[in-house]
Amino acid sequence: MDLKKFRITAARKQKSLAAFLTKLDDIVPDDMPELVAKVDATVWKDVNCMECANCCKTMTPTFTKADVKRISAHLDMKPKEFMDKWLVKEEGSGDWINTTQPCQFLAGNICSIYEVRPADCAEFPHHNKKPFDLYNDTFTNNLIHCPATLTLVDRLKKVVEKEYVW
Ligand code: SF4
Ligand code: SF4
Repeated sequence: MDLKKFRITAARKQKSLAAFLTKLDDIVPDDMPELVAKVDATVWKDVNCMECANCCKTMTPTFTKADVKRISAHLDMKPKEFMDKWLVKEEGSGDWINTTQPCQFLAGNICSIYEVRPADCAEFPHHNKKPFDLYNDTFTNNLIHCPATLTLVDRLKKVVEKEYVW
């Protein structure tokens, strides 16, 4: 994965893809879930997370209480010790997030706590959330972070604009 090339492409397409997602808020094709699933399957043939890890490098997951309990136990730490060492409360949302990026658990392109990673990481990039259009703000934000999301939205835009009354 050439992340430099990804960043250039994302910067070039961000505005039009964000506008597409905004419009999608109002005009959702009836068969949206099937369409997203079909296009998403094509994305994962071309994008390999093991060659990317850009989410772990540039974003932070949110840590729920259950995440903190599970991960700290895995690391043989007390939850408070874990939180004091690595987390900070995000202003506004009150979510617990990483203090720094890249994530402290990233080793090369591999998650060193993969089997106990936060639920937010396990669900990322959230392409199978339903209904898809309810998460447009998330996808808009992730266009510049995640090559898979950029590819999905780009391909969806092409299909929707060609095959639907738009
Ligand atoms: S916990 Fe693992 S999957 Fe989640 S951001 Fe950190 S390295 Fe990535
Ligand atoms: S989810 Fe997106 S940003 Fe994260 S590793 Fe996979 S392609 Fe890269």
